[in-house]
Amino acid sequence: MTHAIRIHAHGGPEVMLWEDVPTPEPGPGEAVVRHAAVGLNYIDVYFRTGLYKAALPATIGMEGAGTVLAVGTGVTDLAPGDRVAYAGGPIGAYATERSIAADRLVKLPDAIEFNTAAAMMLQGMTAQYLLRRTFRVQAGQTILVHAAAGGVGLILCQWAKHLGATVIGVVSTAEKAELASAHGAAHVIVGNSDIPGEVKRLTGGAMVPVVYDSVGRDTFMPSLDSLAPLGLMVSYGNASGPVGPIDVGLLGAKGSLFLTRPSLATYTAKRSDLLAAATDLFEVVQNGAVSIRVNQTFPLKDAAAAHRALESRQTTGSTVLLP
Ligand code: NDP
Repeated sequence: MTHAIRIHAHGGPEVMLWEDVPTPEPGPGEAVVRHAAVGLNYIDVYFRTGLYKAALPATIGMEGAGTVLAVGTGVTDLAPGDRVAYAGGPIGAYATERSIAADRLVKLPDAIEFNTAAAMMLQGMTAQYLLRRTFRVQAGQTILVHAAAGGVGLILCQWAKHLGATVIGVVSTAEKAELASAHGAAHVIVGNSDIPGEVKRLTGGAMVPVVYDSVGRDTFMPSLDSLAPLGLMVSYGNASGPVGPIDVGLLGAKGSLFLTRPSLATYTAKRSDLLAAATDLFEVVQNGAVSIRVNQTFPLKDAAAAHRALESRQTTGSTVLLP
């Protein structure tokens, strides 16, 4: 037997139970990975609460790093002992060992430790596609980043600065503002400020060509109002709740705006895209442009405590769960 966190019902952090589960066997095309570290992501909360659907009982979690224990038939480019990491579906990462399609695994460069890998694969590849594909940020542009001291946020700030952009971050506390500044945000808007008003002041009235909004319900309108004409609203998360239906006429009224709701799953569905995103991420981490902040670790069996910290906005940077 091995161990995993399982949920038998949707609900609060208390629904996550540490249970004995059968030792996984690799099916055709699969590899079994022994996790050295598992990544904590906000999407895990959505699967726990039922905002995102999964059949129950379920082991949640979408990110891990560790060592290949066994491979199934047809797997030729991985072998037991390989150091690997992954991010994205299917769920099942909150476990000491799991089986996963081998083509979802990426081999880790020797210089990247397991904790760093588990902290960065999902949030870092998200930052990669947001900055390089959803909107290709150019040197000299000023961009708006919500939850700038969070996991994705700190990576976005550093990477965007590395690209030559000026980042305006939004955070809830003065401590988080300091952290975002230390990781590349040129300006930080704190608390319940008038976000469009601050963006107007900071950009001399020009507003921004793109907003990266992971907060959802609470910030959707202020984000639209922070965009320059023809700007792109990237609504990529729901930490404060889902945005809900919107009147598309608003996009016209506010300046012929564009709106997208992207997901890492789409941007890494092809193996070539997955490898390109991971390669780009490994490069900025290894050349020092982006440093991965593992600011919290929890034993995997205490995932409930990790979820409480994440949902109550007490975490900064990335969080790793240790099996
Ligand atoms: P974070 O570390 O950013 O944690 C969430 C942060 O959101 C909090 O720290 C908090 O920062 C802010 N926040 C604002 N309002 C609330 C609220 N009501 N409740 C809780 N938090 C709130 O998490 P992640 O880095 O894991 O993920 C960031 C977001 O990006 C999530 O929404 C996630 O779903 C999304 N995401 C989307 C992906 C995609 O492909 N679409 C992929 C990866 C992540 P503060 O206190 O400063 O406001």
